[in-house]
Amino acid sequence: KNIGIDAGGTLIKVVCEENNSFSFSKYPVAQIENVASNINKIAGAQICLTGGKASLFETLMIQEPLHIIEFEATCRGVQYLLNIDDPKLQEYVFTNVGTGTSIHHVGNSVHERVGGTGVGGGTLLGLSQLLTGLTDYEAIVKLAAKGIRDRIDLKVSHIYEGAEPPISGDLTASNFGRVLQSFSNQEFAKEELLASIVGLVGETVATTSVLAAKSCGVSSVVYIGSSFIQNELLKETVQSYTILRGALPVFVENGEYSGAIGALLYG
Ligand code: ADP
Repeated sequence: KNIGIDAGGTLIKVVCEENNSFSFSKYPVAQIENVASNINKIAGAQICLTGGKASLFETLMIQEPLHIIEFEATCRGVQYLLNIDDPKLQEYVFTNVGTGTSIHHVGNSVHERVGGTGVGGGTLLGLSQLLTGLTDYEAIVKLAAKGIRDRIDLKVSHIYEGAEPPISGDLTASNFGRVLQSFSNQEFAKEELLASIVGLVGETVATTSVLAAKSCGVSSVVYIGSSFIQNELLKETVQSYTILRGALPVFVENGEYSGAIGALLYG
């Protein structure tokens, strides 16, 4: 039995492999002690550990785990999942939308981190709390899906007002840029605010990823990370904005477990 654990900034992802089949689970990082104590009860398993909180996790373990560098684990996990979903894809940029966002280039003989942005899943949670008071992830993504961004976000077409714009009128000219323009005395519904926060995160992630893909000379961007869990709106935003910006978006099933799967494969 092999177990891969990716202890991240927000969530601990656990993958167990037994008889060639995987089982997946995730826990808030606040439960790190419970997770470690449950792992300690499992006899005879090889534990492979990665992620920013791997060292903290290890201090809670009885048996010594195998440590895998996060970047290497994630790359290996992404390629493993792609081999199932899309085996022809061998050169791409992948973007991990976790608490923050990091972007990597994978090619025949290259494996490099090309950059990232602090705008990620943590931004979604933080801004949502500040603007609406909501703290529950599921409640946030559910309400966001019902919101309309039109009164908050300024589109290129809003500025050009019917004239022919030089770039697609559907692109956002300014996230939250319409608030002061015409609706300053109005209250915004939680749904609208949350939808615009998802828009800000999704468009920033897609835009930086497409710029990275272009600078690396690749056409596909593979998106992974827990920020897409139950968040169809973020997925759609990232997908359509990636296409609008000129690259090919790819989502892999169980992508949020890439780090944990990759770690496990080293065991
Ligand atoms: P990390 O490895 O940094 O923990 P993840 O890939 O696990 O990053 O993504 C964390 C993000 O996933 C959070 O910032 C949040 O937007 C989203 N998320 C998905 N499910 C949950 C959940 N149950 N609780 C909190 N955040 C969640």
